[in-house]
Amino acid sequence: MSKPKKLVVGNWKLHGSKAANAQLLSGVLAAGPYAADVGVCAPFPYLADLQAQLASSAVTWGAQDVSAHEQGAYTGEVNAAMLAEFGCRWAIVGHSERRAYHAESDQLVADKAKAALAKGVTPIVCVGETLEQREAGHTEEVVKRQLSAVIHTLGACIAEIVVAYEPVWAIGTGKTATPEQAQAVHALLRAQLAAATPKASTIRLLYGGSVKPDNAATLFAQADIDGGLIGGASLKAADFAAICRAAG
Ligand code: PEP
Repeated sequence: MSKPKKLVVGNWKLHGSKAANAQLLSGVLAAGPYAADVGVCAPFPYLADLQAQLASSAVTWGAQDVSAHEQGAYTGEVNAAMLAEFGCRWAIVGHSERRAYHAESDQLVADKAKAALAKGVTPIVCVGETLEQREAGHTEEVVKRQLSAVIHTLGACIAEIVVAYEPVWAIGTGKTATPEQAQAVHALLRAQLAAATPKASTIRLLYGGSVKPDNAATLFAQADIDGGLIGGASLKAADFAAICRAAG
């Protein structure tokens, strides 16, 4: 099976405004087209604007979270059908900030991934260890446990997700995993997926954690790194465009 096309997704987190987003997207579009697949994940209120600005482009868009529920008394939640109505291609699930600040469990993350897929929204499932876990030698155990919940919940549909390995200690810290460190974990995740599906080689495994224009190409050149999930650098059009080109 041939290697999947590279994918670069921006995670805007809690940033932006209508005006700033429009300007950022204009810059990203003007610097394209890109050889890689490119997407941006914005706060919920801006999804309609993204749909309007990006619908006629090759750049896709998505959300940073999704409810595990279809509907009901879940104040504040947004379901996958709603995301699909706004043309969302992606929903990030299990970002370390949601696991840490909203106490999201491995099973809840898996349920969110399932809910997204059921409505045709591709979940970008984040896994990653803290610095403490890495230093204690627990990286493999932690990322495998996180991915295992998703594998068991999705069954054969596991081949339809995107996985993002994001070491918590590298997110927003300026400390990037070395290409060798990142590749080693990606290889572990690929092997875990291969035990679950014959399509493991087609699943895109993104690296995230302080990816910048000057380190992107080396990271993306690793055998099992199929692109990136980009936080801070996705807020600057020139930097994000340079990272997208590094994946091309
Ligand atoms: C992220 O939040 O997904 C991320 C990778 O952030 P940063 O690129 O800023 O480290």
